[in-house]
Amino acid sequence: MTGPELLVLWDIDNTLISARGFGKLMYREAFRTAFGRELNGPVDLGGRTELDVIAEILEQHDIEHTEEASQLLAGALASSFETRRADLPGHSEVLPGALEALQAFANDPRVHQGVLTANLRSVALVKLEELGLAHLVDWEVSAFGDDHADRAELVTFARERARHIRAFTDDEVVLIGDTPHDVYAAITAGVRLVAVATGRSSKEALRDAGAETVLDDLRDLGELTRQVWKTGAQGNRTA
Ligand SMILES: [Mg+2]
Repeated sequence: MTGPELLVLWDIDNTLISARGFGKLMYREAFRTAFGRELNGPVDLGGRTELDVIAEILEQHDIEHTEEASQLLAGALASSFETRRADLPGHSEVLPGALEALQAFANDPRVHQGVLTANLRSVALVKLEELGLAHLVDWEVSAFGDDHADRAELVTFARERARHIRAFTDDEVVLIGDTPHDVYAAITAGVRLVAVATGRSSKEALRDAGAETVLDDLRDLGELTRQVWKTGAQGNRTA
């Protein structure tokens, strides 16, 4: 067979990069810009889609959840990231092994890779551009927080966008992510998952959420590659 055999979809935050609270800072700035007042309370961003987080923030602040209000905050968030993009490298880092893994898969003709992230598309692009990773993934075969509020639905978007390359089967789609939200998305969409305990969730928490494959991090490229290529009981594919 020629051409890609595997569609790898990367989560961004705490899987490829760590932005150490920069996202929360941007939310506070965006909320102030959009609604002229301060954001109250903590913002729990971990793995949830941007549309989902925005809906909760609006509710917490007694702002009616209209399409207009949601777009106002999303637009302000995108603007904040764009304006502050030069500050991002100083407030974030590429996680160990991420660059090497992305490069290895980008150089492997059997793999096609994109991102599947809770971030808005424009925010995801700013983050990976500023950290030097953007050129390694296919942005047209990816899915983002502005596609749908439900992370599992993002898998459908990415697969649809990959159709011109190949109709990847469930077994040929692999998510790589760090939270129970990533686990939920893979299980619900019926695709495979390699979980990494590089975020706030422990290996145990990821296993409890249903992840069968959990790595400490992305440092061991050989192990990551083996797990990404491992198929289900009916499969016998080897790397
Ligand atoms: Mg994440």
